[in-house]
Amino acid sequence: METSNSAVCIYCLQEKPVGSFDREHVLPRALLPEGFGQSLTLIRMVCRDCNHYLGAKLVSYLSHDSFEAVLRLKYGVRGPGKASDLKYDRIEFRLAGPAPWGGVRMHLRDEQGRLMRDVLPQVGFRREGETCWTYVLVSELREPKHPVPAPLARERSIQVVATPEVTADEIDEILELLATHGVTFHPEGESPVYPYRLGDQEDLDLTCDFDVILQRGVAYIAFNYLAYVACSEFARRPDFNAVREFIRYGTKPDYQIVDVTDTPVLFGDTPTLRQTNGHLVTVGWSDDVGALSSSVSLFNHLTYRITLCRRFPGIWRPVRSGHHFDIDNKQVCRMGYL
Ligand SMILES: [Zn+2]
Repeated sequence: METSNSAVCIYCLQEKPVGSFDREHVLPRALLPEGFGQSLTLIRMVCRDCNHYLGAKLVSYLSHDSFEAVLRLKYGVRGPGKASDLKYDRIEFRLAGPAPWGGVRMHLRDEQGRLMRDVLPQVGFRREGETCWTYVLVSELREPKHPVPAPLARERSIQVVATPEVTADEIDEILELLATHGVTFHPEGESPVYPYRLGDQEDLDLTCDFDVILQRGVAYIAFNYLAYVACSEFARRPDFNAVREFIRYGTKPDYQIVDVTDTPVLFGDTPTLRQTNGHLVTVGWSDDVGALSSSVSLFNHLTYRITLCRRFPGIWRPVRSGHHFDIDNKQVCRMGYL
């Protein structure tokens, strides 16, 4: 029970003194550009412990190791000089196009405000009869348990890709690493090393994993938004325990809480033509079974649909609502109709 001196957190459901509550942003500031105006906040709803945990555990991955993290760079949400903040556990850049360079792994780098690409030392494997190469980073080969493409029979080719500045010692190290994986090097052609020249191929393919951590991250935004729209007491109802425990503790219910689609949120948008690059968050009742769900579309690209409650038993209240976080005009506004 809340008093004037205490409040109950919508995530851990613990009653704590009001001094234990921080102001919580519905949408993490990390996804908004510098100078963004007043955003949506939750007051006395999320305790400091939960706020810190969710920020460190979920938001940091969403903003540094996801498809949205790449969009964050693309749209300059945190300005130049932040490509070095990208993590590559869930995202991977590969050169597009045919062999021999198609599939080569790349990282992004800032240079005087422009996004540049770096080729990483790596080894390509190709079986006889195949045209595509499978590339494994040297940093991955240093992990003894990292698998190299199998089965590595005799009928294979191997090539080492590195920058033109690669030294003989570095090549020796790569060959030794290959040996620890049971791979004897049979160079194809005259040299084992193929220095990649920038500009040989330009297009990059991006692949992203959307794992539980990222699912919890978008569900976190959705649930914050529900609390903003419908009030703290409503969000604390046991009907939302499944999504709450998924976000706060990673407990998975027996149904899929987060789905991803390329169906746009906005009426009039198409999968390839969008009216805004801002973020869209909505909440509303589903028509069929009394489910309450939310859509979250960061940078108006992919749309995540979050089931907040599958069958709401209480009296329905008008929660249908949507907001647009406009990253160009740096303000948030309510969407007129949904
Ligand atoms: Zn809490």
